[in-house]
Amino acid sequence: MGRRMYRKSFGARGVALFVLLWWGVCRAGADQALQVTVGEAEIFPGQAVLVTATACRPLASLAGELTDRKVMFFPDESRLRWTALAGVDLAVSAGTHALVYRGRYTDGTPVKGRYDVTVLAKSYPEERITVDRKFVQLSKQDLERVRRERKMLKALYRVQSSDVFWQGGFGVPVNVEAGSRFGLRRFFNNEPRNPHSGSDLKASGGTPVQSPSAGRTVFAGELFFSGNAVILDHGGGLFTLYAHLQDMTVGEGDLVSKGEVIGHVGATGRVTGPHLHWGAKLNGARVDPFSLVLLPLHRVRVVAEDVSARPEDPTDKERVSPSRETRAPE
Ligand SMILES: [Zn+2]
Repeated sequence: MGRRMYRKSFGARGVALFVLLWWGVCRAGADQALQVTVGEAEIFPGQAVLVTATACRPLASLAGELTDRKVMFFPDESRLRWTALAGVDLAVSAGTHALVYRGRYTDGTPVKGRYDVTVLAKSYPEERITVDRKFVQLSKQDLERVRRERKMLKALYRVQSSDVFWQGGFGVPVNVEAGSRFGLRRFFNNEPRNPHSGSDLKASGGTPVQSPSAGRTVFAGELFFSGNAVILDHGGGLFTLYAHLQDMTVGEGDLVSKGEVIGHVGATGRVTGPHLHWGAKLNGARVDPFSLVLLPLHRVRVVAEDVSARPEDPTDKERVSPSRETRAPE
């Protein structure tokens, strides 16, 4: 049965049947298996997806990997049901990709497996923008500054905190229509640049920017391309970026709640006019922040875990290749 069909028929009867079947599987002694589901019917490059893994008996730990990127699972109180946000980067090719997972039951028995994720092709249109020359032909000084900032951001995005602020769900930072959308293949002054790694919200200068979800401020400062910017850590490797701000009303280390004002829309950095650039990074993958808004995260109940202390994380030895890591936010 296709996942789409499965979703349609997944009513109360479906749940009862699932529980019964699953109980049967568990009773049959196939206790190595995890039941993995991905919530989204269609998955495209540049999307955040919700992954659930259900075990027959409590797991002490569970970690996964999809397209060379970490998938960080968090348990519910029973430790039978684990949930993760997985990021499919904008550059991931269409086709089948294995989500591999590895964990350990509370009695020490290891468990591992894979779940095939189908990524569908999507072509993003071109966008041509004219900006001040200094943002396209960088001076030696500016180039050095950009390199420094990339290094700083790369280190920052590598942190996978054990909080799960994202479980409160995502709203939008400014309630206006999106202008330049995520994924557009961009040309600045006719020169090809990285695709648009966020969505632009067409709000006028001075409009308050509200945090779409709870998080911790990990950066509040000025960047060459992004201008005044705030970066929030939502836990488990998920970060969101708010760029080109007029001002910031939060500082590094501040905890922010959903709906709290973090700054105001401006026109700082590489822009053609005032707007909010909203970006999202999920374990290094560039994802459309609007894909987070669509996820039913308000239904997720997980407990925070010290993810850095997990010994059987499959990606500990195979680090993500550096070339795939963070690029300067654009
Ligand atoms: Zn933008």
